[in-house]
Amino acid sequence: MNLANTILDPINDFFFLTTCFHCGNRLSDGESRVCATCWSSLTPVRNDDFTYQVMIKRFQDAGIIDEFIPLYYFEKGKMLQSLAHSLKYEEITSFGKELGEKIGAALKTKNITAAAVIPVPLNKRKERERGYNQSEFIAEGVSRVTGIPVLPQAVRRVKYTVTQTHLNAEERKENIADAFIADERYKEKIANKVVIVVDDIITTGSTIQEIGKVLKDAGAKKIIAASAGLAKLGEDA
Ligand SMILES: [Zn+2]
Repeated sequence: MNLANTILDPINDFFFLTTCFHCGNRLSDGESRVCATCWSSLTPVRNDDFTYQVMIKRFQDAGIIDEFIPLYYFEKGKMLQSLAHSLKYEEITSFGKELGEKIGAALKTKNITAAAVIPVPLNKRKERERGYNQSEFIAEGVSRVTGIPVLPQAVRRVKYTVTQTHLNAEERKENIADAFIADERYKEKIANKVVIVVDDIITTGSTIQEIGKVLKDAGAKKIIAASAGLAKLGEDA
């Protein structure tokens, strides 16, 4: 039992900051929020994995997303789940940036350059409730490593969509249709350019495809979808 997790007192923030968010172990120098053991417990997405192959086929068939770079599998009870939860419901912004930096490093390894990084936007109501958009922090981390500028306003969410947790792929597609518009003011920065769209977790890919669609309609040459997490598909998917 970890003391920091049992005492809900702001005075204990100090202890909270020095222990791993997921396992509660003490952090070593150079570790921030999550310990090295927890980071290494994540399962990286590999190109020949079943889930990745299914997603690539889906994206190729739709013809919008040109490249797909997810980092880790999003599995129940694993660190990434508590991390994603904390990104959504607590203001632990350093996590998002750290994840973004890892995406940035992956892009660099693949020699991928782009003109802009665009975070998946929340609708205004949710952003007001939360006060921030977690994907924006991830985008900032990507930018920090790659030097590619973030355009947080380039795509706006114009439709309030119901939460997608219990929807299947087809229902998600319908739910998210026409939910975004590309902001005219950024058209020049997007037209004929390679654009990276970043999300925290990709499940069916319908949201990122919808964003890719409005960006391509706005003239984007190539869309790279990147995410910290990818929901693992069952073999029956
Ligand atoms: Zn840990």
